[in-house]
Amino acid sequence: MLNYSVDADGIATVEFDYPNKSQNILNAGSMGAYAEAMQKALADPAVKGIVLTSAKKDFIAGGDLAELGAATDAAAFHAAISGWHKLMRGIELGGKPVAAAFNGSALGGGLELALGCHYRVAADNPKARFGFPEVTLGLLPGAGGTQRTPRLIGMQAAAPLLMEGKRIKAAEALKVGLIHAVVKVGDERTAARQWVLDAVASGAKPLQPWDTKGFRIPGGGPNTPNGMQMLMAANAMLREKTYDNYPAPKHILSCVYEGLATNIDTGLAIEARYFTHLVMSPVSKNMIRSLFFGMQDANKLGSRPKHVAVQKYSKIGMLGAGMMGAGIAMCTAQAGIAVVLLDTTQEAADKGKAYASKQWSKQVAKGRMTQEAMDALLARIHPTTDYADLAGCEMVIEAVFEKREIKAEVTKKAEAVISADAIFASNTSTLPITGLAQASVRPANFIGLHFFSPAEKMPLVEIIVGKATSDETLARSMDYVRAIGKTPIVVNDSRGFFTSRVFGTYVSEGMALLEEGVPPALIDKAGLIAGMPVGPLALADEVSIELIHKVTQQTRADLGEAYVERAADRVAAKMVAELGRLGRKSGGGFYDYPAGGPKHLWPGLAEHFPQKVGAGSLCVPGIPLRGQATAIVTLEQIVERLILAQSVEAVRCLEEHVLRAPIDADVGAILGWGYPPFRGGPIGWLHSLGLANALDALERLTKTHGARFAPPELLRNLAAKGESFYPA
Ligand code: NAD
Repeated sequence: MLNYSVDADGIATVEFDYPNKSQNILNAGSMGAYAEAMQKALADPAVKGIVLTSAKKDFIAGGDLAELGAATDAAAFHAAISGWHKLMRGIELGGKPVAAAFNGSALGGGLELALGCHYRVAADNPKARFGFPEVTLGLLPGAGGTQRTPRLIGMQAAAPLLMEGKRIKAAEALKVGLIHAVVKVGDERTAARQWVLDAVASGAKPLQPWDTKGFRIPGGGPNTPNGMQMLMAANAMLREKTYDNYPAPKHILSCVYEGLATNIDTGLAIEARYFTHLVMSPVSKNMIRSLFFGMQDANKLGSRPKHVAVQKYSKIGMLGAGMMGAGIAMCTAQAGIAVVLLDTTQEAADKGKAYASKQWSKQVAKGRMTQEAMDALLARIHPTTDYADLAGCEMVIEAVFEKREIKAEVTKKAEAVISADAIFASNTSTLPITGLAQASVRPANFIGLHFFSPAEKMPLVEIIVGKATSDETLARSMDYVRAIGKTPIVVNDSRGFFTSRVFGTYVSEGMALLEEGVPPALIDKAGLIAGMPVGPLALADEVSIELIHKVTQQTRADLGEAYVERAADRVAAKMVAELGRLGRKSGGGFYDYPAGGPKHLWPGLAEHFPQKVGAGSLCVPGIPLRGQATAIVTLEQIVERLILAQSVEAVRCLEEHVLRAPIDADVGAILGWGYPPFRGGPIGWLHSLGLANALDALERLTKTHGARFAPPELLRNLAAKGESFYPA
């Protein structure tokens, strides 16, 4: 765990070396070993000073998320954290100089341990980063980070590190004063040791700035005019951005405000309470499960069929050089893979490549890419109309128009050229893969790779396994997704797959609320307050109301009698067929988009969807609002409907085996449509509520709003057994 040695000059070296891991992490075990080593060094009269360092390529990666995610005993956790604080204060006041030497990154708890040393020196390692990523997982830097950082570098400089999880390079860490020196790679230990030797020779007692007489917080404390102004603005900005959904940044701000108004020891005690509260909160549990472990497993291809050899890609065929084709070509070329970009005319194919060129030029202009790198990327994309150019492709991806006949035609033409073991993937957003595979002569090699728009930016790919798709095709497709740096989730074939189906319920519920006469401004604001990135009506405009209408018509035609009409179908039909309001790209939908000005709700909505329901907080029960509104809806009720509509559909996807695992729903929702991570995901949210509570809520909603909220058997059964989708 730790290597301990003392040299002839009496300098002890404490070297973190976590067994069987590539990174050092902090948990009960490693902190226990650290405490033992430091206490030994402090107590040993032969030891004059201490150098703290690492045997790995980085210093310390941070706290052990498995341990934090599993912690459920608040009192025990608080006691342990208070113990860490006591230990670190003992080191600061122990009378022996302690220096930390960073060979690589020091993040989270790792950086905090170092802030509890008297001196910090970093190697000039371009890969090294310094910061506190805790907030991104619903936590705070709870080993003194919220207290020592602003005392060292001031509240203003500390804010982006603590509250946004910003990571900085060594040069910037030096500039803001987080570290004392940057030296040549390999010289960091020597430099730390030299500082310790000099400090010993000076004979002065080593002290942290906050333990010296007359200490003042750089830039002013919370009760100075500067500090007041900064904290007030930070508080307002935080609320505007998060709608109070994320307790971590708020608690960090509280730690800074309350902790810096007092001495460091009281400040640390304050931090320990806020930290314990966050570690115990369902928000951090949700974020750790979905954003860290779920994402990590997806990126490591945890569900990839193991027996298939890993496929390396050198050439990919892209059919259709439209919006999606161009984006997919971009990320493929960026992964070092050659792309044949095929369309019906040379002009259309060239247009796809021109799109890539335009996007990359922006990177070059911003200094994020060199012209040579851009030229190399462009050289990998070959625009063409000739199917013969597809020869040698390991995979062909189709992103032509969403028409079965056209997709069938390009499948046949491509398969005539590519080798027998090449994969054919469709980027269809709505057409079931098993049906499309009928056009293929080798349906085992046929698969769905559903990208999101804009494809060059969006991190998720939904992989759809058709009835005939082989394990080998699945495994090799996952290798491609990994090669282009995206995160895959694997789902079984079904109408709308997983993402479109569940995401669609959010938009539909917003449209149902509109039909009921709820004010549209309230509906979209409720979406934002629920944590979604965009309100449901604004989102319908982005997706295009016309497309929603078309998909409904197609589904209705396919299902015939079995189709159950929804309020959203009527709203979409009215907007498109009657009012000609097709969505953003067609000039306007639920919103108007004036040139040069911000969008605003279309005033015609008031006439065509008259308000019948008043907002609970704005009117008195029974007293009509604006003439007709007598029914009342509260913000909480709207939020509940917008969120549970997604959850119940996700459970249906699990029950119908469209989803293979609950975590796929949660990772897919967060990456695919920006589902709020604090809820964990549509399934994670039910887990947070507790399944018995979720069941009650769904039964209540079914009574008032109909069968779309009806709780699936799977949920009933789990709730009856007192179980959940995830371990408690
Ligand atoms: P698009 O209209 O921008 O591009 C389609 C391209 O295909 C056009 O350039 C067209 O010329 C070309 N094309 C048409 N017929 C062809 C043929 N026979 N051979 C070769 N090329 C042909 O459409 P898009 O938005 O890029 O969507 C393409 C596919 O991706 C559709 O299946 C769509 O459902 C799916 N998709 C779209 C999105 C999205 O948000 N736009 C998201 C996921 C999936």
